[in-house]
Amino acid sequence: MNIAAETLDLHLRHTFTISRSSRSLVPVVLVTLSHQGVQGVGEASPSTRYGETPESVLSFLRNLRFPQEPEVGTILDAVSRDAEGNRSAQAAIDIALHDWSGRMLGTPVWQLLGLPAPVVRPTSLTIGIDKPEIMRQKVGEASAFRVLKVKVGTENDLLLVEAVRRVTDTPLRVDANEGWKSKELALEKIRALEGMGIEFIEQPMPAACLRDMAWLRERVNIPFIADESLRTVEDFPQLREAFDGINIKLMKCGGLRPARALIDAARGASMKVMLGCMIETSVGISAAAQLLGAADYVDLDGNLLITNDPYDGAAAIDGLLHPPTGPGIGVRPRSIA
Ligand code: MG
Repeated sequence: MNIAAETLDLHLRHTFTISRSSRSLVPVVLVTLSHQGVQGVGEASPSTRYGETPESVLSFLRNLRFPQEPEVGTILDAVSRDAEGNRSAQAAIDIALHDWSGRMLGTPVWQLLGLPAPVVRPTSLTIGIDKPEIMRQKVGEASAFRVLKVKVGTENDLLLVEAVRRVTDTPLRVDANEGWKSKELALEKIRALEGMGIEFIEQPMPAACLRDMAWLRERVNIPFIADESLRTVEDFPQLREAFDGINIKLMKCGGLRPARALIDAARGASMKVMLGCMIETSVGISAAAQLLGAADYVDLDGNLLITNDPYDGAAAIDGLLHPPTGPGIGVRPRSIA
């Protein structure tokens, strides 16, 4: 089994600002795995929030030792054992292996995972933090989307939501990215958001503030979705008091197999499943789209925010995410014009 990995700088359409950072280039690592004449592709979009960089991903991949007679389950077991702190690198291997298996068998990955077939679903588009007039312009450009996600967690955040609300009556999702540091501040912000057509709030407070978020949840009517508080299935049991649902991202949990386990955990606890992403190419997004049949909320817009996607696969057209077709994760290299 041969693995090749290369870093690619993704160019963003708009400088992207959330509560903790601002950027216009996002480096990802693309992985190609070849065995028995068949190739599978995978992707890592490392996040400094979780202590990863392209260099740490490449180093993790260089140090991997595969069993002699590779079997997908055995390899994934081996990779996951050492993957703490390297979940996006683990995801790259997990995605490439699932893609490779699906292509070997002529089967889409959702079927390998025993999930319902993906269907066309509305996805939200994220409007990063910006000056109110720029945010209004971005909302205008996003008029096809049936739901928008607004990043908050800075001082003027309510003004920004109001600015968006003035120009659209589309339902809004709000993502605070841990930006509200005290429960009193969060309560004040959320009370102001009630009645503004907010579908849910992602991660109102820092990941570890589970007690404070449970306290808040008793006092407000907008559902909470766990993002930074949830990485892998080990984090799940502590979240039930604080959240109504979980945001599953392949890059946080380590790929499709761990995501499948999280879906089962959420269902078992009657919690909602949101599918999310980092800034990613169509490789990561098409892999996540294999889980569409099991999702309550879809936020797979990472490949829409970039201008140099090297692959075609899952694509949002007029605000609807069309799942990829074909074996594996269903991507093909984009032909260069
Ligand atoms: Mg989030």
